[in-house]
Formats: sequence, C-alpha cells, structure tokens
Amino acid sequence: MSNNKPMPVPTEISAPFWEGLKAERLLIQQCNACAHWVFYPRRHCPGCLAHDLAWREVSGGASLYSYTVTRIATLPDFVDEMPQMLAVIELDEGVRINSNLVGLDETEISIGMRLQPVFAEVDDKGNRLLRFTGPDKDAASLQKPRQDAEAIVEPTMAASATRQIAFDDEAALRSLVSDEFSPWSNPVEVDQALIDAFAELSGDDYWIHTDPERARKESPFGGTIAHGALVLVLQSRMKLALGFEIVGFTNMVNYGSDRLRFPAPVPAGAKVHARARVKSVERLKRGTQLTLELNTHVVGNERPSVINDLVILYM
Ligand SMILES: [Zn+2]
Repeated sequence: MSNNKPMPVPTEISAPFWEGLKAERLLIQQCNACAHWVFYPRRHCPGCLAHDLAWREVSGGASLYSYTVTRIATLPDFVDEMPQMLAVIELDEGVRINSNLVGLDETEISIGMRLQPVFAEVDDKGNRLLRFTGPDKDAASLQKPRQDAEAIVEPTMAASATRQIAFDDEAALRSLVSDEFSPWSNPVEVDQALIDAFAELSGDDYWIHTDPERARKESPFGGTIAHGALVLVLQSRMKLALGFEIVGFTNMVNYGSDRLRFPAPVPAGAKVHARARVKSVERLKRGTQLTLELNTHVVGNERPSVINDLVILYM
C-alpha cells in the first residue's frame, strides 16, 4: 500500500463519520426536525435548515448511481490501483456518496446494481476509507490492503522510509531542498499506439509523430518521436520515491510550471522513467509552495527528455 496517498483530514463536523469507519460502522447524519438524511457531514439540514442533526448508523445498503473508469491515475500515488473505478453511490436512505468500487471487474459493473460497503484499511493507524463492492463479493477480504500492491513498487522504494512532514513546518521543508535526485521511477513504454492516440486527442498529427515510413526517410531522428506534451503528461504514470510525505494540508494544487523544456526526443518504442528533487520551498501567505524538478529521461539516456519545474501549492 502506498504511503503517499492523500488521506482525509477529519474536521470537528466530519470526525464522527471517520471514527465510525474505523469501527466498521457507517454513520450518516439525519435531521431530527424533518427526518432528511444528510451527506456530506454538515452543521445544518439542507432540507429545512434546522441545526438539529443526529448521527445514525445505517446498513450501507446502496445502489450504483453513476461511475467512471480512469485508466490514467488521478494522482501518481494511485498507480497501484489502476484502473480506478470512481463511483457515485446512492445509499438506501437517499443520499449520494462519491467513492470507489473495489473487487469488481469492469464487466460486472452496471448502473443501478446493488452494492455493499467495504471498510477498507488504508494505513496501520486504523484509518479506513469507505468503498463499495457487489452484493455477492467477500467484503471482509476486500477490507485488507491488496496483496499485489507492494509487489509493483520498485525495491528501492520499498526500502526507503517515508518521512512525514507537516506542510507548515518550514524548517523541515527546507531540509528537503537538495541537488540530489530521487531514485528512478518505474519505466513506461511510449509506443506508436500511444503516440497515435495522443495525436488524435491533441490534434497534433504532424508526420514526425504519426508517419513511421516518412519519418524513417526524412526525420533527423530516423523514425517517429513522441510529442513533448505526451511525455510530460506520462509523469502521472510514473511512481516516484521521494522519501517524504507532506501531511496536514487541506488542499494540494498543481500551480503550473516554472520551467518546461524538452531537451531530447523520445523515439517511438522507447521506455522512459523519471526522477525528482525538491528545488525550493517557500512559505507564502496563501500556503506552502514547493518546486519539484521532475525530469523524464529515455531509459539509459543522461540527457533528460523533459525538464519540468513543477510548482505545488499546499494550503
Ligand atoms: Zn431538516
């Protein structure tokens, strides 16, 4: 199980929900004045505005309202959960919850299907997240972290201890700034099919990317090459072992890039991998700004194919 996944931060209002999950109980608020069920946790009833909500345990019986299957991780930390089944679940009480489906093959999923809750263990501190699975699945075994998750993590990553740093601990954050890069990520293959798919998506179907025959004859690279922007976005498929985890923030924003360069081409069929280092840390009024130099190389190449000084803002 990845140690870098963002975790919910309970607030005074939402804490009973998270505490309930720890005890494998699903607690939802209900209005004492009008019996309306409420989710997410709030101070007042959205039905009648009464400030009289009580936490009640519900069975977790639910049906699937909507879902989507993501094949590119929503955050790099989720590469061990691919594809992600993101779902809107309607509890029998009528409230809807954003969650994930687990233990289900894509072909088994259909809108309106019945679901049961899974109180998924996500760390060794007893925290659990609410997920859902089919009514005929073994929810108890799905509560355990996936056994194969650790196996896809590179050995160097498994060995490196993760240090937790509060997002407002300026001294600790400054100690992360280094000239030294992290170990390499997992490699990702950039084949012609991926380049063609990106050409179609972006509208950039210039022959140097999409016409292998012409590129063999006319391109200075002796074949087609990947779009720089494609190699850039593939960073989401690469799992980095930074050796630290920033915690305690309520919001993390990708603020853009201070520097973006494509110094070397990526030929079709090449494998790329990435590594990163913390370039700078700044405490600003709006939060903590961390600049990560995230470089992608063709495996074996000294010269990077993408240099990206990624600016992340923690608030
Ligand atoms: Zn009410």
